[in-house]
Amino acid sequence: MSEATSFGGDYENDLIIEQIEIGPMQNFTYIVGCKSTREVVVVDPAWDIEQLVGHINERDYKLTGALVTHYHPDHIGGSYGGNQIPGLAELMALNPVRVYAHKEEAAGVLKVTGIEKSDLAEVSSGEKLKVGDVEVEFLHTPGHTPGSHCFRIKKTLVSGDTLFINGCGRCDLPGSSSEDMYHSMQKLNGLPDDTLLLPGHNYAHVPNATMGETKKTNVHLRVDSMKTWKMFMGD
Ligand SMILES: [Zn+2]
Repeated sequence: MSEATSFGGDYENDLIIEQIEIGPMQNFTYIVGCKSTREVVVVDPAWDIEQLVGHINERDYKLTGALVTHYHPDHIGGSYGGNQIPGLAELMALNPVRVYAHKEEAAGVLKVTGIEKSDLAEVSSGEKLKVGDVEVEFLHTPGHTPGSHCFRIKKTLVSGDTLFINGCGRCDLPGSSSEDMYHSMQKLNGLPDDTLLLPGHNYAHVPNATMGETKKTNVHLRVDSMKTWKMFMGD
């Protein structure tokens, strides 16, 4: 687990956003919350749950939820290539909280992690979650998986495996849809340029970038017709 990088201070006074690189696949987990109430949620807890919970306790945060960008085990734990990745199940044992996933992702989350259905809150696009005084908006962005979604928190976007700084999530996996990904790119392209993009993996030369910078350099956001997209993606 890396040192946490904080953004809240630069972006909004009451906002906590910490980016932490975790595990061997360059995953980013995020802690999102409210400075005045100390309430936080964790985005995509996996790999090193004990250290993550230790970090949350050390900072005197109160963990009230876990947000799932999508159901792949490198983000939320579960069986992967014969290995068992720690994730939501271990979090629930240490610090039980409500888990928020898009409704189309719920079955996958339950299957890979084995958490109880009663612990899972199924959300839809446009719904909002209050974490203390901070509001998180869910934005459905299918493509990498059917129930992938991003989180908009003030002027930031936590994008999971939908949008990376230099690319987008794979669309050749079971359940992926390249056509859906095209529409999701169009949707994200409409976000204001001063939005800070916080991706699900540390795959680029920088760990985060503004949407303005990303729109200029990320070809996936620049394709403006389905026909070109299909050629570009090799469909
Ligand atoms: Zn993924």
